[in-house]
Amino acid sequence: MAHTAEQRRAYTARNRKRINAYAKKYYHDNQEHLSAAERVRRKLRAWVQPMQIIETLGGCCANCGYKEHLDGLEIDHVVPIRVASSDRILTKIGSIGWNKIEEALVGCQLLCGTCHRIKTRADARATGGWKVA
Ligand SMILES: [Zn+2]
Repeated sequence: MAHTAEQRRAYTARNRKRINAYAKKYYHDNQEHLSAAERVRRKLRAWVQPMQIIETLGGCCANCGYKEHLDGLEIDHVVPIRVASSDRILTKIGSIGWNKIEEALVGCQLLCGTCHRIKTRADARATGGWKVA
């Protein structure tokens, strides 16, 4: 039996959050709606922004100076707190503007993978096992 308009409205109202979350994910996963120009812009940003980040944060590991391979460098929150919003922003590299990334980098430094791991474990011990990054 087909649903009435009233039933559909009631269903939508009951499931508003779920529907919005789905729509958002669908929009993100299916980016054909983006113009060709925007797709090119995003590709370029995804390529350039990691290098801009590394340059902004000094270009090498703040602890040992490592800079041989870009993939060996990681972003560390100097004060060991999880800044959820800044972490979220940094996963969107390529699809957001530089000004937002710059904001997210406040309080961050560049560390090589090894120094980052050592610092993270030391921070965790100092804060009683609090998972930090
Ligand atoms: Zn290092």
